[in-house]
Amino acid sequence: MLTNYNRSALALAELLKREGVEDSTVLEAIASTPRHIFIDDVLQHKAYQNTALPIGQGQTISQPYIVARMTELLRLAGVRDKVLEIGTGSGYQTAILAKTFTKVCSVERIKALQWQAKRRLHKLDLYNVTMKHGDGWQGWQSQAPFEGIIVTAAAATMPQGLLAQLADGGVMIAPIGEQDQQLMMVVRNGDTFTEHKVAPVRFVPLVPGDIE
Ligand code: SAH
Repeated sequence: MLTNYNRSALALAELLKREGVEDSTVLEAIASTPRHIFIDDVLQHKAYQNTALPIGQGQTISQPYIVARMTELLRLAGVRDKVLEIGTGSGYQTAILAKTFTKVCSVERIKALQWQAKRRLHKLDLYNVTMKHGDGWQGWQSQAPFEGIIVTAAAATMPQGLLAQLADGGVMIAPIGEQDQQLMMVVRNGDTFTEHKVAPVRFVPLVPGDIE
């Protein structure tokens, strides 16, 4: 028998499908991931709504639609193997990536969030994730190159350091801008980087420089 949260996660996946998410691997990942464990006790009743929610430290867990869509964009671009995530946050997007790709490397600048996310992923038996406390603008040089890079906070300008860590043929999905943000997809072919606008979005800022 399905538990309550499984039924809720399944309903969320069905909603995202109606909203236009098509990739079955991504929809299965949404349907099998208990989003409530990534959310504070007081907000439990909103855990399976298609909305962003506060996670403390001035940060937010992203809207499920955007999590699914960004993951699907990597899949549609042919990414299957090793991905880098910048901005672990709650760890929910990380869990969806872990169920969709072979290996996930995730960087978070706030130590308390990184530790909490690590505990949650272990609880879900997701062991193909490596996490680092650090500044996402620097990416993760020792783990590069990556077939896919996903940035879950808005960079004021295109993060060139991350593009340099893309494998040839690799793809980066990132929100760019401050007040007016655009979700961008950048495809690498040798030394050529082609940018495509995906959609207007609203993310918390990718903080420059230091770590907490
Ligand atoms: N995908 C996450 C989104 C969290 S919000 C989720 O759904 O839970 C964005 C996250 O990016 C925050 O946790 C924030 O601390 C982190 N972040 C912001 N600037 C960063 C930087 N320079 N390096 C690494 N992480 C950063």
